[in-house]
Amino acid sequence: MADLVNDFSWSRTRDHVFKDCRRRYFYQYYGAWGGWEADADPLVRRLYVLKQLGTRQMWAGRLVHEAVERALLAMRDGYALSEAALIEDTVRQMRGEWRGSRDGIYHEFPKRTGLFEHEYAVRIRDAEWQALRDHVVRCLRNFYRLPLLAEIKQVPADRWSFIENIGSFAFEGTRVFAAPDFGFWNAADRLQLVDWKTGGNGGEGAAIQLGGYALYALEVMGVDLPRVDLLEVNLGAGKVTVHPWNEVSLDRVREHIRLSVRAMRAYLKDPDKNLAEEANFEKSEDLRICRWCNFRAVCRPELPPFSKPEDMEGAAPLPPGTGQRS
Ligand code: SF4
Repeated sequence: MADLVNDFSWSRTRDHVFKDCRRRYFYQYYGAWGGWEADADPLVRRLYVLKQLGTRQMWAGRLVHEAVERALLAMRDGYALSEAALIEDTVRQMRGEWRGSRDGIYHEFPKRTGLFEHEYAVRIRDAEWQALRDHVVRCLRNFYRLPLLAEIKQVPADRWSFIENIGSFAFEGTRVFAAPDFGFWNAADRLQLVDWKTGGNGGEGAAIQLGGYALYALEVMGVDLPRVDLLEVNLGAGKVTVHPWNEVSLDRVREHIRLSVRAMRAYLKDPDKNLAEEANFEKSEDLRICRWCNFRAVCRPELPPFSKPEDMEGAAPLPPGTGQRS
């Protein structure tokens, strides 16, 4: 098999990490490169293991996304997964992954679920884990009750798009990853691009994300904005928000990506070869970011451990991608 090449690309998560902390960005996109090999340099391997960690909220978001995708794939293939079966499977998966994470399986198999809370011994009360499970169940229940799902089911599956695809496209010479979770052409022949959300509103980040989908529609599918609706579906609340888009907002997104790419590339030792040097990526001075950073064990081992359950309350700035895949 040909060697993998660490090509430069852009995504909203990458943009987020870069803004949060340059050093973290270095670890995530350069330092951890190659760490999937079990016999990689120990530091590279450690960075790679840490890179894969997610907070419990991110984990819950991934479980919901996977479950929704399973349900849609089953519908596409002509059989229905009942709500009860999907919830039961997902809760079972959740229990299994939680145990595996608690037992540290991810150290040997980094692609398996590893929770930040286990790696860093953050004490979470049982009631909080149960609340997380309840949240996942609530999201799936709401999914089945969405009028939007009824609409999707009315549409022939060959009018659905994107399931299983990793969407990327070239934007001014850079590979940009920005694809919606799901899309379909509705009865009015409008393209509906759907973003399943399980956490809070992402604010400006969400706007950039949705704008990325609009660009995807334009660049990959050749569909003009007047025929596209961007739907943010908050599964926790069972609420659908339609985000209007026009050329002006799309231009804003283009400019955001353009500037972000330029800033990232300016940090590289050799932009053409995508080569980075750790010393050029400064550490954040905001220790609140460090506290919740996956790489704190390597980067700031002097930080005090999480000692009391109270440490969690109201203190956690949720990391990039919280409540959604990233
Ligand atoms: S511990 Fe702090 S300085 Fe180090 S990578 Fe993480 S956020 Fe950046």
